[in-house]
Amino acid sequence: MTYQPPVRDFTFLLKDVLEIEKHANLPGFADASMDTVEQILDEAAKFTSEVLAPLNSVGDKHGCVWSPDNTVKTPPGFKEAYQQLVEAGWPGLGAAPDYGGQGLPHVVNLAFSEMSSSANMAFSMYPGLTHGAYSALLNGGSDELKATYLPKLASGQWGGTMNLTEPHCGTDLGLLRTKAVPQGDGAYKISGQKIWISGGEHDLAENIIHLVLARIEGAPAGTRGISLFIVPKFIPKADGTPGERNAVKCAGLEEKMGIHGNATCVMSHEEATGWLVGEENQGLRLMFVMMNEARLGVGMQGIAQAEAAYQAAASFAKERLQGRSLTGPKNPDGPADPIIVHPDVRRMLLDSRAIIEGGRAFLFWTALQGDLSHNHPDEAVRQKAGDYMSLMTPVLKGYLTDRGFNICSDAMQVHGGSGFTEHFPASQYLRDCRIALIYEGTNGVQALDLVGRKLAANGGRAVMTFFAEVDAFVEAHHEDAALKPFVDGLAAAKGQLQDGTMWLMQNGLANPDNAGAASTDYMHLFGLTGLAYMWALMAKAAQAKVAAGDSDPFYATKLAIGRYFVERVLPDTGGHLAKLKTGSETLMALPAEAF
Ligand SMILES: Cc1cc2nc3c(=O)[nH]c(=O)nc-3n(C[C@H](O)[C@H](O)[C@H](O)COP(=O)(O)OP(=O)(O)OC[C@H]3O[C@@H](n4cnc5c(N)ncnc54)[C@H](O)[C@@H]3O)c2cc1C
Repeated sequence: MTYQPPVRDFTFLLKDVLEIEKHANLPGFADASMDTVEQILDEAAKFTSEVLAPLNSVGDKHGCVWSPDNTVKTPPGFKEAYQQLVEAGWPGLGAAPDYGGQGLPHVVNLAFSEMSSSANMAFSMYPGLTHGAYSALLNGGSDELKATYLPKLASGQWGGTMNLTEPHCGTDLGLLRTKAVPQGDGAYKISGQKIWISGGEHDLAENIIHLVLARIEGAPAGTRGISLFIVPKFIPKADGTPGERNAVKCAGLEEKMGIHGNATCVMSHEEATGWLVGEENQGLRLMFVMMNEARLGVGMQGIAQAEAAYQAAASFAKERLQGRSLTGPKNPDGPADPIIVHPDVRRMLLDSRAIIEGGRAFLFWTALQGDLSHNHPDEAVRQKAGDYMSLMTPVLKGYLTDRGFNICSDAMQVHGGSGFTEHFPASQYLRDCRIALIYEGTNGVQALDLVGRKLAANGGRAVMTFFAEVDAFVEAHHEDAALKPFVDGLAAAKGQLQDGTMWLMQNGLANPDNAGAASTDYMHLFGLTGLAYMWALMAKAAQAKVAAGDSDPFYATKLAIGRYFVERVLPDTGGHLAKLKTGSETLMALPAEAF
């Protein structure tokens, strides 16, 4: 079976749960009536399932090919699909109208991004990173840089990349050595090697715009001396068309476990001409705009791969005949029952579905916060939404990709031995999605960001606001019998999260290893609590439909999956809380030689 975009679920979230039409007074939302959004989603579903999905296994099998002339050929069909993507205007969906975009809310764009990623993760990374480069320039570029580059990036006519990583410098960007020498005319000469650069070279777009972190000669060591530069593959001419070839080239491609259709490049900058973006030594701050957007995008990749893998597993489970139901044959005329009758197979499918739907809601809810943080007229609303964005970003990146990988693994398990073969898609999903736990800051580093920076920011304002919001929801709905399991589950999880937060405050400061030791469990506890809130919001919306006499089985199914989440997924909070409270003692007891 091929991937079917879950348009109904997107519509439910946007219309009934997040009620985006309530924000029609904000820029972008005015053009996002649900009629328009539904049309966009239908078209997006068609494009992604008919154009991108069929190329997914083609990309996996063929991969990208590097030539000694430093060019890279993408897999068969990618170039044509990219042209269709650009011609249909998909890259500009969320870009600003000033630069030729359609200016739709980020939360609407996210639905398109998820569909693209489910259909073909490797392909979707090219426009995904381009949008990240667009956002970083929009945020920090001069008017001149914006005028030259943003319209081309917004349309997808030019591609974008982020060049951070160097052979000796991954997580610890303070070690970076790529250097920038001022030329006295506003330009710099950039020299150094960057590795594992996604989309660093390809044949999809007429120009590729690299956002490069480098150290200006004489700048301080460490992260305080890093600046951001724009380094185009072809230097734009005065009329805006690509001109002289710049001295940045792809010196080779990585062979890797998955996302074979995406070119992962070694980039060699050999006195390449670049221009400063923003202020000197402020590069990391600006790059974080791109990285934060990319982190939400990576969390989305976790859910997107999980959705595609789940769909394949559910379809297989309804067809594969093995064994008999424990309660008597369900397919008496056949040689055996379909494996979907077995509780353990259902456990894997329902675990998957409960996390995917809750995780998707959490992503959409946060994306809406992003829109509000930029566009809302009320400063207090903007601040709260900005706080939430910043707090939830590491949770979504880390928790959803950890769980997304587990779901892809369960999808393989549902397939049995077939899943381990390349005749079925489960293997590719599992291989492709694994990188999401690593890039854009490993999940361990996300957990540290959460406990080390995000919790403490502004005296804990963001997490306190979140607790208060959950408390208010519980207070408002605790007498609603139909919502009781959801409200009780949410209240219990929030209590445990608050307990874990207090423990961290008391013990993390006293011994920083305690914070490091607790961080991943805390991130999962936070993720589960976030999903509990999302399931409560979804249950409320679904229950309102049922109470109003709506007989669409979608709502009853939604409530059933939500109850499964509360009963069989949410209790993991207890394990995470117990583990995080043990502190660092046993973790740090053994000397390095004992490993
Ligand atoms: C396919 C692919 C595509 C990529 N695309 C890009 C791209 O487009 N642009 C780009 O710039 N980079 C890219 N990267 C690089 C990626 O972002 C890095 O791999 C990632 O940031 C981790 O760095 P590292 O691999 O050097 O791991 P390391 O930093 O060496 O980390 C190794 C392990 O140590 C842990 N660790 C490290 N430091 C700490 C710490 N202080 N505390 C606790 N644990 C720690 C990590 O969590 C990890 O488990 C890509 C990588 C791959 C594989």
